[in-house]
Amino acid sequence: MTVLVVGGGIAGLALARALIDRNVPVEVVERNVDRGAGLAINLPGNAVTAFAALGIDLSSVGRPTRRREYRTSHGRLLFGVDEDAFWGTGAQPRCVRRSDLLALLGDGIPVRHATVTAVDGLDVEFAGGERKTYEFVVGADGVRSAVRSAVFGGDGVRASLLSAASWRFMAPNPGVDCWTVWSGAGGAFLLIPVDGEEVYAYASATAGGPVADDPGWLHSTFASFPSPVRAVLAEPSSLIHSPIEEIRLPSWVSGRRVLIGDAAHATAPVWAQGAALAVEDALALSDLLAGGDWDTVGARFEALRRERVAHVQAATDRFSRAAALPVWLRHLVMPVIGPKTYRETYAPLRA
Ligand SMILES: Cc1cc2nc3c(=O)[nH]c(=O)nc-3n(C[C@H](O)[C@H](O)[C@H](O)COP(=O)(O)OP(=O)(O)OC[C@H]3O[C@@H](n4cnc5c(N)ncnc54)[C@H](O)[C@@H]3O)c2cc1C
Repeated sequence: MTVLVVGGGIAGLALARALIDRNVPVEVVERNVDRGAGLAINLPGNAVTAFAALGIDLSSVGRPTRRREYRTSHGRLLFGVDEDAFWGTGAQPRCVRRSDLLALLGDGIPVRHATVTAVDGLDVEFAGGERKTYEFVVGADGVRSAVRSAVFGGDGVRASLLSAASWRFMAPNPGVDCWTVWSGAGGAFLLIPVDGEEVYAYASATAGGPVADDPGWLHSTFASFPSPVRAVLAEPSSLIHSPIEEIRLPSWVSGRRVLIGDAAHATAPVWAQGAALAVEDALALSDLLAGGDWDTVGARFEALRRERVAHVQAATDRFSRAAALPVWLRHLVMPVIGPKTYRETYAPLRA
């Protein structure tokens, strides 16, 4: 009775770890030998709580994110959030390097390097022609999931309402001491300190707009933004341009085949819920698999998880539409609706 987990990213490694803890036989396959993307990830309090439930203490990596500030493209503060007070002790948000997170998650988890090319029932085909039959198959293979395509076809993929793509990079910290976003008519620019020396930078459009894959887009869009933004643009490292695609599927389950993480519900990183949802999925699914009756596990998993995921998707759409408002209107309403939206989004996720 072996579970095949396709994908050794955050969702796949979290599930493998949780299944091993629960004595459920598992095989993880991952197509990339090197997944050590040098960039960082923002983990809100519920992600930190989920990692702790998995037995992973994040306190040795990254840096706590104690406060958020939303600013205009001229630097004026629209509103701030005391994240320490909101999330409370033990669930302090953190910004960590992805390589550190994957190293912690993958420690002691055997991963086979193989690429899944087809799934037919519970028969799985790998690149090179090998075929194997499992008792349960989990697609944790990300936004372009091969398992999803094989089981559910090509539906459910959509461009993000916020921005068609993003730029991410690391840079020396220009003196920013908390999560800070500056937004204007053409784009939003986020900086988060990841340790004493470096910041993680994320830039995207604000109204679903295209984001050219030429770094010149960054310079032309943010040339007149405040000095911390201009300073990091002068010294970027590991620039990554990537599309932002979302997955909205009516079901993540077909018999003993289940999608988790981005493969099931990739969402634009407006509320930084990707890792949190992936680890929560892994915890929920591993508990059900450990309890037996694998024919009904998928349906019970979906019933448990659907409402929470739908809440994040709805909050993402609401914020993305607000970000597309004319700048003068955004500046007028943000100080009022911003803190309220933060609370309404994250308060249900604290549980
Ligand atoms: C620009 C951007 C910024 C983001 N920022 C944040 C953030 O700050 N905070 C946050 O929580 N989330 C963020 N996210 C989302 C977050 O990165 C994802 O939700 C998270 O990584 C989900 O992990 P996953 O394991 O589901 O998918 P992935 O990380 O995509 O992992 C899937 C794995 O499956 C492997 N794979 C794929 N196909 C196959 C195959 N056929 N056979 C074998 N292996 C295969 C891949 O190589 C990969 O390692 C962001 C996303 C984007 C696009």
